[in-house]
Amino acid sequence: MIPQDQIEQVKERSDIVSVISEYVSLKSSGTNFKGLCPFHSENTPSFMVSADKQIFHCFGCSVGGNVFTFLMKSQGLSFIEAVERLAEKTGIVLKKQDNAKNSKEVSQKKSLLKLNGLAADFYHKYLLTSESAEKARAYLKKRQISDEIISKFKLGYAPDAWEMLKNHLLKLKAPLPLMVEGGLVTGKNKIYDYFRNRVIFPIFDIEGEVIGFGARALDADQNPKYLNSKDSLVYSKSRSLYAMHHAKAHILKEGVVFIVEGYFDALSLINHGVNNVVAPLGTALTEEQIRFLKRYTKQIILIFDSDAAGINAMKRTLKLLLQEEVDAKVVILPKGKDPDDFVNEVGKEKFLSFVKSAQDKVFFLLQSLIQEHGTSIQGKIKVLEELMPQLTPIVNPMEKSLYIQEISQALSIEENKIYGFLKRGSSAIKKDDVKRDDPALKKEIKFDKAEKLLVQAMLKEEQWISIIESADILDLFTHSELEEISTLSLEVFKEKGKIDVGEVMMKSSYPALLTRLSFEAQELDFNRKIIDDCCKNIRMRYMKKVQGELLEKLKKEENPDILNTYQKLVSELKKLTGGNDRA
Ligand SMILES: [Zn+2]
Repeated sequence: MIPQDQIEQVKERSDIVSVISEYVSLKSSGTNFKGLCPFHSENTPSFMVSADKQIFHCFGCSVGGNVFTFLMKSQGLSFIEAVERLAEKTGIVLKKQDNAKNSKEVSQKKSLLKLNGLAADFYHKYLLTSESAEKARAYLKKRQISDEIISKFKLGYAPDAWEMLKNHLLKLKAPLPLMVEGGLVTGKNKIYDYFRNRVIFPIFDIEGEVIGFGARALDADQNPKYLNSKDSLVYSKSRSLYAMHHAKAHILKEGVVFIVEGYFDALSLINHGVNNVVAPLGTALTEEQIRFLKRYTKQIILIFDSDAAGINAMKRTLKLLLQEEVDAKVVILPKGKDPDDFVNEVGKEKFLSFVKSAQDKVFFLLQSLIQEHGTSIQGKIKVLEELMPQLTPIVNPMEKSLYIQEISQALSIEENKIYGFLKRGSSAIKKDDVKRDDPALKKEIKFDKAEKLLVQAMLKEEQWISIIESADILDLFTHSELEEISTLSLEVFKEKGKIDVGEVMMKSSYPALLTRLSFEAQELDFNRKIIDDCCKNIRMRYMKKVQGELLEKLKKEENPDILNTYQKLVSELKKLTGGNDRA
């Protein structure tokens, strides 16, 4: 945990305009800055950044937030990671628990990254320049990997020798134990290079630092065919994804990610201009990798070989994808083809149109479950048992009924029986509602004008906050979204003595609504009369409502107390409207 005052300090010292400028080209526009949105594809800028309020909002896709949320959403960081990143930039040393151990770990991580970088340089240079790397160069050529890709992904060659890398790194004063920790060398008594006679694929983290290596054998009798770095302080196989540092921006732009099996699949697609592609690192896709990808997009298309191993890997992956509630589709390539061969053969356009035929995850799962369990009565029950839980989270009734139709036909079971099965299954599994980003924006509510203006006044200029508070009308708001934002604004104002929109946003359940209202407020001019009129408006609306309710009650019974309250209310209302006439 990072202490709250340090988070504040980091926020104070980070300027949202300069942070976002690193990723988006911003032009000044009035008091704001404008640019092409990094979260959706557009030609005319609708992405706004306010230096004054330290927030951003896109009027095209309704994403909004402060400097932390920008990094979280655009770079796929967690909150803590975003704070850490900015702390480092602004030169703030975060006080964390267990400081000594922590700083030692941080410095070791840094040394490891540096060491990996040096090793990657060595392998890369060796591939490009050494005579004995000719067979590696020929191999890459055969796999149709262009020079551009070789240099962009820093592909390399580990020489067919025992100590070349080790000696090279020792000459650069790298300590041997660090090489062992990084998995670059191995051995008990005699320490020797871990990768030999292999094509090297450096694995980058999201920042573009080399965290590990994948390596493919060049000789037919060399085992295993693929060898990967062991997990280390900086590298975790189950968390990292190949080519993610390159793909992240494209995934955000395209709104979808392709997942392929191997390095060559990913590189071939990128070679052909399909850039939103990543690959797991020699294992099936893991939960951690899916969660990580979910920060970028919920649309995942799996592209696998049609061989049995590929299909089995896919089935395991699909169950995970269903659990993680992502919108997953499946592409099975023509028999005997992997994505690498396929895209080289047909090119980008044909590849993309084939991918459009991607099969829905449920249909795919249905087919593969039938293959697994067969269509005996017991088999069908097993298929249904495994399949039904996957249908329960589907909200769209049309979608659900289409699935059921398909399942009914495939298993020759009547649809209503499947519905029955589904009902029984769904009562057992109760999943929380899917947490949406900002439900208020999806609803496109027509807000009460007075309430909306007051909220905007509070977000724009703090002078109005105490006036609105003393009018005592925040409880009378009819829109819970606006009530929440106004109450939080008041809370933050009282805490900090000023209005901090970014802070209100962090507490709010409606961040994008908040940033939108705040940007819109810049165009508005407030004065005392507008504020008073809005407050009065809300109070009168409330009193009229109460008046109506009292009248209803009086119709039913003649109660002197109710009558008394009613008359008081009427005279108060008269006073209020009278004031209005005079104004
Ligand atoms: Zn946008």
